[in-house]
Amino acid sequence: MASAHLGSPIQSFLDALRAKYADDREGEVATYIPELAKADPELFGICIATTDGYVYEAGDSRHEFTIQSISKPFVYGLALDDHGAELILKKVGVEPSGDAFNAISLHKVTGCPLNPMINAGAIATTGQIVAESSDARIGRILEMFERYSGRPMRIDRDVYESESRTGHRNRAIGHLLRNFDILVDDPTATVDAYFRQCAISVTCADLALLGATLANQGLNPVTGVRAIKEQHVENVLSVMASCGMYDFSGGWIYNVGMPAKSGVAGGVLAVLPGQLGIGVFSPRLDAQGNSARALKVCEELSKAWELHQFNPPYCAQTSRRLAYTAAQRNSSRTRHPSHRACLREHGTRIHVVEMQSNLAFSTTEPIVRDVLDRVGRPLAVILDFHHVTAINGVAVRMLVDLAESLARRGVMVFFTHTQRLDVVRAQVAAYLTDRGEVEALFRYHSTDGALEHCEDVLLDELHALVQLVDHDLHDYEITASLTEDEIALFATLLKHRSHASGEKITSSGEEATNLFLITKGVVGVLLGGPAAAGNRVASFSVGTMVGEMAFLDGAPRSADVVAEGEVETAAFEIADFHRLQQSHPVLHTKILRNIAVSLATKLRKVSQDVSVFSAERG
Ligand code: GLN
Repeated sequence: MASAHLGSPIQSFLDALRAKYADDREGEVATYIPELAKADPELFGICIATTDGYVYEAGDSRHEFTIQSISKPFVYGLALDDHGAELILKKVGVEPSGDAFNAISLHKVTGCPLNPMINAGAIATTGQIVAESSDARIGRILEMFERYSGRPMRIDRDVYESESRTGHRNRAIGHLLRNFDILVDDPTATVDAYFRQCAISVTCADLALLGATLANQGLNPVTGVRAIKEQHVENVLSVMASCGMYDFSGGWIYNVGMPAKSGVAGGVLAVLPGQLGIGVFSPRLDAQGNSARALKVCEELSKAWELHQFNPPYCAQTSRRLAYTAAQRNSSRTRHPSHRACLREHGTRIHVVEMQSNLAFSTTEPIVRDVLDRVGRPLAVILDFHHVTAINGVAVRMLVDLAESLARRGVMVFFTHTQRLDVVRAQVAAYLTDRGEVEALFRYHSTDGALEHCEDVLLDELHALVQLVDHDLHDYEITASLTEDEIALFATLLKHRSHASGEKITSSGEEATNLFLITKGVVGVLLGGPAAAGNRVASFSVGTMVGEMAFLDGAPRSADVVAEGEVETAAFEIADFHRLQQSHPVLHTKILRNIAVSLATKLRKVSQDVSVFSAERG
């Protein structure tokens, strides 16, 4: 567990908050469980745990106390995991009771406790935990808390024995539940397991982490261990929101706006779903049985940091990071000038949308609208997930439905950079029954690869690719503005070579003695490893030149160049180029200029990329 940064405004706020209420002595320490009366009333700790596992601590954050009623929502979650919500709802309701925590409030007809946060509902819930014996039951409950807290948990014997000696009212509740067949086995054993569950020792930091685990969809943010099935997290948080603070639940949700649970030992746990968990400990309780200082602290935290659930940070418009067409920005393929011109004119039919942040209904809906609003006859839509941090089921389904409707209109759709979000592929595969469609959607890992492919398809459709005839040097970048005679002379200097697919044409680090023209096929540029591992940084097609930088600076090759399919090249030696300076100075100058133009084009591509990016950024 990380400790707080010195100078952090968050830490300072917590320290100041603790100092502000340090002398607040409102309320009384609970005495009905005799052992609880021994608590030092001055103890006071505040902890915040984030959903990325950072814990801020102020005051007595590591002092142990018993969890008491804060165990109830967690055991309810375990019961849901064991049996599913449908069955558990038949045993215990989810309506606030408006009664004290130990009230014997059972439904008049069914005998069902009104909710799992009052003792009657909690005892009924503990009775649902699947186990052979009372020991096994509490064993499972302890294991569950260890998944949430990430550390070994123990029961405070003294508090357990003290409650066991005096807990007649809870025993009476157990027997009533047995009478109504809500509990089906020995109620004494169930109530005993309940007493032990309430006597589990926790710290304020544990509470914050328990809360952060719920906030993190049931995944402990420090250990990565799943503590509860994801689908039951919302059930647990719902009962905390409506019933967690006993008959102050309405006032609490109104003022603080977070699902929460308090316990008679003085702990309060609050959860801001998706964001953080809060643990506060202070033993003096108010008239409703909630920790008096914890209530004030949570209310102030909620106000200061604007944490109220019903005032969520607005994020819908931030889900589109960048959108452009192939007329504005191209793949890393260096293409012949005529192809570049063609893409500038017709590239508006290829759309790239880079998404970001959390994709849920409200953040995906603008993406769907944006894509459908794109005018013209789209050839392709590439949806880039690189900056998406999380995505839920509905967002996946919306994007797949969008892809399908576009595909029906003949538009190619690719989902790229989904690697970090392995859930996307799994969810898409679960949603789409046709495996072929799934494969097609994920054919390109990178947006660059997908964009390159779409550009090829577009150029092919426009018959642009056949314009360059093999070995006719007229249309090459390097021969621009050369006369027929000059081209003829230049042609005598070239050495033609054929390369099999996969052949390395130049290697990084080797001495550069020439540049070469691509006369057939495509070459890939690899930086530091194979293409499959994502090291392909650029590519070149017919009419372009590779390796011309060495003509200017004489430096060794900076990357590997590999033939992708059958390739033919024509090499031009630096030595021959130098000789031209004496024999044909005009030709030499023209070639030098064309090399400079080729470099300028590459630089221009970089600035184009930057300008697309900054235009979107505003
Ligand atoms: N063990 C306590 C009881 O059942 C828990 C009550 C509470 O924390 N509110 O009385």
